[in-house]
Amino acid sequence: MGFANNHKNQSDMISFSQATPAGRSFWITSYFSIEYKTMLPCLILAAVLSFQANAQEQSAKRPPIIDVHVHAMKVNPNFSRPMCPWFLNSMPGSGPNQEAPSFINLDCVDPLQPAASDADMQEKLLATAERLNMTLVVSGDADVIHKWHAQAPDRIIPSLGVSNADQISVEAFRDSLSSGFYKVMGEVAPQYQGMSPSDMSLDAYFAVAEELGIPVGIHMGTGGNGMANITNANYRASLGQPFLLEDMLARHPKLKIWVMHAGYPMIDQMIALMGANAYVYVDLAGFIWSYPLEEIHAYLKRLVQAGFGKRILYGTDFMVWPKLLETSIGVIENANYLSEDQKRDIFFNNAVRFFNLDPSEFE
Ligand SMILES: [Zn+2]
Repeated sequence: MGFANNHKNQSDMISFSQATPAGRSFWITSYFSIEYKTMLPCLILAAVLSFQANAQEQSAKRPPIIDVHVHAMKVNPNFSRPMCPWFLNSMPGSGPNQEAPSFINLDCVDPLQPAASDADMQEKLLATAERLNMTLVVSGDADVIHKWHAQAPDRIIPSLGVSNADQISVEAFRDSLSSGFYKVMGEVAPQYQGMSPSDMSLDAYFAVAEELGIPVGIHMGTGGNGMANITNANYRASLGQPFLLEDMLARHPKLKIWVMHAGYPMIDQMIALMGANAYVYVDLAGFIWSYPLEEIHAYLKRLVQAGFGKRILYGTDFMVWPKLLETSIGVIENANYLSEDQKRDIFFNNAVRFFNLDPSEFE
C-alpha cells in the first residue's frame, strides 16, 4: 500500500524465531503466565454492541482503517483464553505469600474468544480486515507474517522488531530491511529487558532505520497489574518514561518514531516530548481495550486537547482474539468528544502521513 515492491526474500526471515519473544507487546507476558479467574464485572459493552450492529448494517465499503499495532504469533490452544475487554477496571491487592492476583477476568456478558488454531486465526483476522476495510502493520512470528501477507498482500504491512542486540546482528537487520518485505521497524520493546530505548546497544539499529527511512514503533508504557514483581522481573515502570527517548532522538534527528501505547500513563512527558520532537507520533494500542473506559478517554482527550490530534495513530496490540478489532474500533467511534474528522485522522489520515502511504491506493 504505497510502499515499493513487496517481493519476498529469504534474508528477511533471518533470526526471527529469536527476535519474536522480546518484540511481544504489552500484555503478552502477563496474559500467558498468570492463571485467570473471575474478577469484577466487565462493565461496558454498549460501545462494542452498537459498533457491531452498525457494521452489519453497512454493506458498502467502509472508510479505510489502518491498525498500526498487530502481533502475529502461533496459536497455542493450551494458553489461549477468552478475555473481557477493559479488565483492568480492578487491580486487586495481594501479598507475596498469597495466590497471585488474576490478570484477565471472564465476568462479562460476551468475552472475546481466542482463535482455535493458526488457520482459524488467519481466516478470521483477514476476513475481518476485509470486511472492515483495514490494513494492518504486523510484527512478530516471521512464518505467520509471510502467510498472512501471501493471502492478503494489500492488507498486511510487515514490520521487523528488535529489542536487544542478541536477537539479530546489525548487518542481518539491515539486510532484512533492505529486502523490501519489511516496511517498518517494531515493536522495539527494551523496557521488558530492563533497558532504556536510548541504550547504546540499540543505537546502530536505529541508525539503520534512520538511513533507510524506515519508521520505528517503540513500546513505552505500562504492562498490567504486577508486571515487574509477578511476571517479568526485568520490567521497570520507569523505563516507560517518554523522556528516555530524547537522547536517542537527538542522535538520530531524521528518525521517525511512534510511541506505542502513547507512553500511558505519563501524559505530561508524552506531550512535552511530542512538542519538542515534531516527528514523534503515538499509538493507542493495548490500553484502549484493557484499562477502564473513562481512563482511556481521559488520556486520549488530553492528547487531542493538547493539540496532537494529527499525531495519534490507531492501533490495537492484537494478539489472539479476532473480535478485538471491532471492540477497539468501537472505543474511537463512540468517543463523543472527537469530531468525525478527528476520528478519520486517528483511524487513517495520520497513519497515511506517518508511513508515507499513498491514499489513492485505499480507494
Ligand atoms: Zn507494546
